[in-house]
Amino acid sequence: MMETIMPNWLMRRAELTPDRTAFETDRETVSFRTLFQMVTDIARELRSIGVRENDKVALLSESSLELVGFYHAISGAGAVSVPLNNRLSPEEAAWQLRDCGARWLICDQAFLPLAQMIVDRTPCTLLTMAEVHDQPKTSCGLNSAFDLNKPCTIIYTSGTTGHPKGVVLTYGNHWWSAAGSVLNLGLREDDKWLCCVPLFHVSGLSILMKNVIYGMTVVLSGKFNPHAANRQICANGVTMMSVVANMLRRMLDDAGAEGYPGTFRCMLLGGGPAPLPLLNRCKEKRIPVFQTYGLTETASQTATLPPEYMFTKIGSAGKPLFPAEIRIVTDGKAMRPNQPGEIIVRGLNVTPGYWGRRDATERAIKGGWLYTGDIGYLDQEGFLYILDRRQDLIISGGENVYPAEVESTLLGHPAVEEAGVIGVADETWGEVPYAFVVIKKGLVFSEKELLNYCRRRLAGYKLPVRIQPLERLPRNASRKLLRRKLVDFLPKTFAPRNDF
Ligand code: ATP
Repeated sequence: MMETIMPNWLMRRAELTPDRTAFETDRETVSFRTLFQMVTDIARELRSIGVRENDKVALLSESSLELVGFYHAISGAGAVSVPLNNRLSPEEAAWQLRDCGARWLICDQAFLPLAQMIVDRTPCTLLTMAEVHDQPKTSCGLNSAFDLNKPCTIIYTSGTTGHPKGVVLTYGNHWWSAAGSVLNLGLREDDKWLCCVPLFHVSGLSILMKNVIYGMTVVLSGKFNPHAANRQICANGVTMMSVVANMLRRMLDDAGAEGYPGTFRCMLLGGGPAPLPLLNRCKEKRIPVFQTYGLTETASQTATLPPEYMFTKIGSAGKPLFPAEIRIVTDGKAMRPNQPGEIIVRGLNVTPGYWGRRDATERAIKGGWLYTGDIGYLDQEGFLYILDRRQDLIISGGENVYPAEVESTLLGHPAVEEAGVIGVADETWGEVPYAFVVIKKGLVFSEKELLNYCRRRLAGYKLPVRIQPLERLPRNASRKLLRRKLVDFLPKTFAPRNDF
């Protein structure tokens, strides 16, 4: 059998480049040597409270260096981290802890009240990070090796498509994700990655893996602030950053006309559809956006648009990373170029499955391929375009309408802050698109104007039957749009639009 053991990443990193800066935060700068010492201490404390190999240890905290330390220490003690989204309700979080059988919940002081409510609903033991530090330190520190086949983390999907599922990610998954990314994006000695995405999502967690595997400095920012992020790029030498569309939009609103310095080389944009108007704004400012496609199940990005295609393949998520493969299938048959179907992914970055969910795992992973539930197509040259989630597809008079396309169009209107589109039943067409919008503060909603705007940009069958303003759109704890909850906002009856 193939050997799947490799040295503990942080330990190896601290041996190789101990004096390199590992992290910069608002308050401190730490080297890999210091990080290693800090993590070793935490692992000793964890062992003394009784954390054992394979235990599930849940973490509830703001993004902080301390949280980074706990992640590595849990790995080093042979246990499995279960990061909790800190916006979950107590019941939602407790459900996840019960589901994975977590023995411990460790929180920072700020989240103690929420953590208390969570553990009251579970058999877990709660400790604050400070309480862990009060423990005596055992002599046994970090395991010196990782088994690539062993689970490293369990991350719950955010549940936009139903009940969350615990995605098991092995050391091998994280390793191959980091390797695939660097083969695509490259690495320079002066690279500094700004991390403002939450560390409880795979996007943030994958930056921690890159940090130790590449020996790359990470600037860790607790909360996202567009102005502070722009300053990091313009005045602190940040060369790369991970963002979702909404963060990027806010950074553009704040950025000066001069844009970013040439040292900034990668704005990694993922997590959901990238509205075209946003990409065009980046193009105008010459911001190097790398659009990516990825899922928790693929340990973050699995396809990325190489920089040389940024302007010619706008809207595409690029090609699969070197170690991954992507195909488009419908009813088990591979689709021809430009024909939409379900996106399936194969690679060593793909999860072995969902915690305790054999059925869901067998439905999602067949013959080594992950069925993503997303619809997309590959163009003639093999570039991936994501259309939408399969279950959100609207079929109107036999034509496919992708809500993301209609939303992206609406977002191009200067008055529209947010947009969400669902299908509603229609006697003639089977289903028709129905849109909800949030209007920017101080601006006025006009359904007629928005419909006319759409009419100039969309085929007739894609035009929303109505556009309804809302105060805010329903989003889950990861701030992702919950289209299925938009149904609750539909009026009991509504007249189809007048053809203005
Ligand atoms: P759940 O799987 O429970 O619905 P989720 O949507 O939060 O939760 P994640 O793993 O966080 O799951 O997000 C992955 C999803 O994000 C993909 O399946 C896809 O629908 C969407 N996504 C990611 N990248 C892109 C992209 N470039 N364009 C469009 N959609 C994307």
